[in-house]
Amino acid sequence: MSKYWSPIVSRLKPYVPGEQPRMANLVKLNTNESPYGPSQSALEAIRMAAGADLRLYPDPLALGLRQSIAERHGVMAEEVFVGNGSDEVLAHAFAALLKHDQPLLYPDISYSFYPTYAGLFGIDAVEVPLNDAFRIDIADYRRPSGAIILPNPNAPTGIGLPLAEIERLVAEHPEQPVVIDEAYIDFGGESAIPLVPKYANLLVVQTFSKSRALAGLRVGFAIGQRPLIEALERVKDSFNSYPLGRAAQAGATAAIKDEAWFEETRARIIATRAELTRELEKRGFEVLPSLANFVFARHPGHPGQTLAAKLRERAVIVRHFAKPRIEDFLRITIGTNEECGRLIAALDEIL
Ligand code: PMP
Repeated sequence: MSKYWSPIVSRLKPYVPGEQPRMANLVKLNTNESPYGPSQSALEAIRMAAGADLRLYPDPLALGLRQSIAERHGVMAEEVFVGNGSDEVLAHAFAALLKHDQPLLYPDISYSFYPTYAGLFGIDAVEVPLNDAFRIDIADYRRPSGAIILPNPNAPTGIGLPLAEIERLVAEHPEQPVVIDEAYIDFGGESAIPLVPKYANLLVVQTFSKSRALAGLRVGFAIGQRPLIEALERVKDSFNSYPLGRAAQAGATAAIKDEAWFEETRARIIATRAELTRELEKRGFEVLPSLANFVFARHPGHPGQTLAAKLRERAVIVRHFAKPRIEDFLRITIGTNEECGRLIAALDEIL
């Protein structure tokens, strides 16, 4: 803390990202990255972009990428906003859409960037408890608010909400923007993008970091009707008018077109998730039903923190959150079959 800091920065609790350790032979199952390399055509496009043209600024409108995302999702390019990871898209949404005199609602067990953004932008937040089954109950959001944000599937639980529930939430709150953070939607959830033409208050945010295996490129996007997208553009143009660098625009454009790679890798991750869930359950774990590229699991006989530490001694890194109600859980990213096998072998030594 310093006397030069603004009051907002002095009060801020910054988000702490999962670690990116550089140990050899590590099984890294802590930050929900894809275990598979990105699409070859994305890598080729990135290599092509890494040439003399880097002296030139990128397209400030990112039109090629927005057009490709729009085609993939059946909307217009004008209804797509892109940014450096969905984190940046979400930050712009907080700045652009949320009110200072009415609280923002989000689940109490959820993506921990939301409280950080709320602090950064000086927005009041109300954390709405998950129900006893760790599920979001949209009836709990029927209270005064200026906006609502929900991840679907939720993180770190992995539990998804059916599209009909999302639609009810959006329809019940026509005065508020409702942001659905679909970082993990491609692993079995139902996207709310088809609802966008019907609801002016809906903003759907997705990322290239998980199902497109491009976390290192930093590309995310939002889809919504024009007035919401225009609000995000206003913030972007007041912050950094180039939404993405040339390599990111080129790589993401190629990635979104590679359906074969996408379908194959997400099917593999979904199959490995089912297998890992069975293996964990056989060993006495309770595993929440996941629609994401991770599982959230606890063991009745072993505290989460101890298990995470013992796994780490065996070069397997998973995520543990020291938070009431979930401190016994581990969040385990779905790796390759081989990586999940090594996790299970390590657990067999520990349990
Ligand atoms: N939303 C949720 C729920 C997440 O878990 C993450 C990843 N940590 C993000 C958004 C942000 O992902 P990215 O910035 O890589 O797109």
